[in-house]
Amino acid sequence: MSLKCTNCGRAPEANTRDYRCAVCGSMLDLAGPLHFDPSQVTASGHGLWRYRHTFPLPPAAQPVTLGEGGTPLVAAQLDAGGPTVHFKLESLNPTGSYKDRGTAVLLSWLQSQGITAAVEDSSGNAGASFAAYAARAGVHARIFAPAYAAAAKLAQMEMYGAEVVRVPGPRSQASEAVVQAARAGAYYASHVFNPVGLAGLATIAYELVEQLGGAPGTVLMPIGQGSLLLALQRGFLALQAAGCIAQLPQLVGVQAEACAPLWACFHHGPEGLGFVSEGETLAEGVRIRHPLRGDAVLAAVHASGGQVLAATEAQIETGRRMLAQLGFFVEPTSALVWPALRQLLASSAAQPVVAILTGHGLKSAVA
Ligand SMILES: [Zn+2]
Repeated sequence: MSLKCTNCGRAPEANTRDYRCAVCGSMLDLAGPLHFDPSQVTASGHGLWRYRHTFPLPPAAQPVTLGEGGTPLVAAQLDAGGPTVHFKLESLNPTGSYKDRGTAVLLSWLQSQGITAAVEDSSGNAGASFAAYAARAGVHARIFAPAYAAAAKLAQMEMYGAEVVRVPGPRSQASEAVVQAARAGAYYASHVFNPVGLAGLATIAYELVEQLGGAPGTVLMPIGQGSLLLALQRGFLALQAAGCIAQLPQLVGVQAEACAPLWACFHHGPEGLGFVSEGETLAEGVRIRHPLRGDAVLAAVHASGGQVLAATEAQIETGRRMLAQLGFFVEPTSALVWPALRQLLASSAAQPVVAILTGHGLKSAVA
């Protein structure tokens, strides 16, 4: 796997345990774009590993898999006779969230490097996913999670055998705690700092184009760190470079108003950051005060002609109920797409419109 620093451009040393640039401390990224070759996609079989050629893994790496990917795309109308929306049911991945696509590639990479223990931080879904794939790979997982995280998610991590450290305070405190553990020598296999998983998340783009028979016009999704949006951009760029699609979809990210740094920057520029809080929200999965790749995420939104929207707590609650009435039981974070769909469809969203349902409803209590 070839990496480079997003700031100074240096490549990290081979076999380094540094999770960020050892010289300037900035984020590492894949050194080049993803490459998609339709002739190398496995026609038979199911799920993520049909696109293995796009993953930055050594040829000898064994896939660590639980059957992730290959999720359904289901068409529905918000109102009878209204425009059609295609819902990508990422909630049906093995641990109940889209995170499994990134985690499968990340753990395959860790295993290929001979790493047998790692730490991670998460508000829930990434931690549950990490715990499951670590169990599958025989890697010891220690996960730092905010103490307020959904009980079902914390229990899920522990059932898979992970050691869970409950950190009091806001989400950012869990990030602080894991950095301390990394300083003390633990291997920090962060789903945000480590860019390997982006290649796994990008498979959503490949599947969407297969399922729709062409590129979507608009893709909506909740964003916290924004890794999903970034990965989709890269996936669609790879498809375009391979001649599989002519045009890139507009990418629309949705945040909770209570903690909406990307929304604030998108609409108000850097001055917007002055009034961003890390407020409590039902959408706990996107409660990220400082998105680590925020600049790249905003650049991806702008380049696609998309936008960043924000939803109130009441809209999230309503959205969860309305999605359930269509048959889609999702966690509150995923319900962010409902009010955003309402807003987009009232204007002129480029068709077809896809909304990504990121996490399963059983992960969160119903109010
Ligand atoms: Zn650097």
